[in-house]
Amino acid sequence: MKQIVFISGKGGTGKSTLVSSLSLLVKNKMLADCDVEAPNLHILMQGEILKKDDYFGAKEAVIDSSACIKCGLCRETCRFDAISEEYKIKSMKCEGCGACTLVCPQNAIKLEEVKTGKTFVSNTPRGTFSHALLDIGAEGSGRLVTEVRENVKNYKKDEEWLLIDGSPGIGCVVIASITGTDAVVVVSEPTKSGQSDLERVLGVAKHFGIPAFVCINKYNLNLKVTSEIEQYCENNGYPVIGKIPFDQSIVKALQEFKTPIEAGNNAITNEIKNIWTRLTNKMKKLEE
Ligand code: SF4
Ligand code: SF4
Repeated sequence: MKQIVFISGKGGTGKSTLVSSLSLLVKNKMLADCDVEAPNLHILMQGEILKKDDYFGAKEAVIDSSACIKCGLCRETCRFDAISEEYKIKSMKCEGCGACTLVCPQNAIKLEEVKTGKTFVSNTPRGTFSHALLDIGAEGSGRLVTEVRENVKNYKKDEEWLLIDGSPGIGCVVIASITGTDAVVVVSEPTKSGQSDLERVLGVAKHFGIPAFVCINKYNLNLKVTSEIEQYCENNGYPVIGKIPFDQSIVKALQEFKTPIEAGNNAITNEIKNIWTRLTNKMKKLEE
């Protein structure tokens, strides 16, 4: 099974719209939403939940008051002011760093796992789909992204593709999204900041030796920057596999939780079909 991850330098570039559109066009695939801090594919992928698990993504100190002699060493050590004068842990402040456990002369403090979200695998009309929902205030992590990717593989049949909606940015969640994939598609917008984000995220893909392709969304909003992005890609060996125009009808479709394909926008549907054809052709060539 080939894994293709769609990423961007920041959120809101249209990568989820592209992935959800491809989920309607590509046969023989599974899907994973690794944009764990802002997941939205599950809203479109209505289906039957096959597996649901609590995710424990943080640690928190717990004080055994029966063993505590109130020496104060833990309070002095905690840099996050997470221990009260009564030697109770302030949950909202504890970072789970464990420093307090190292200084306690009574071994009265231990770290416990804290539930920070849930992971899901669903059977949907578009294929088996894996995603996670974080609890309010919880942060995503590379480990959660890896778990979302691994979960879906347990339901693998003979699918040819795993389409991954990756995390935006260049941090550990992105690295966890792209590690071990067969190709990265970076979705960019024609703005100066979009161009800069694109270059940074392409640098991450290059660092990990993963073939990277570029798709410019809303390209017609700034033809000058689009042209600069194309030039940059040409100079640096990154194929531009598609340019999707901005169209007001897409805004309306997204407001109704529809993809451009479901909204019947033929021009954009054709370009997305072409993106898939160009991508798969180029991936085949890389294997030759
Ligand atoms: S370091 Fe240990 S014994 Fe001392 S106050 Fe903290 S929990 Fe209690
Ligand atoms: S685990 Fe770290 S943040 Fe939490 S109470 Fe202990 S020292 Fe403070």
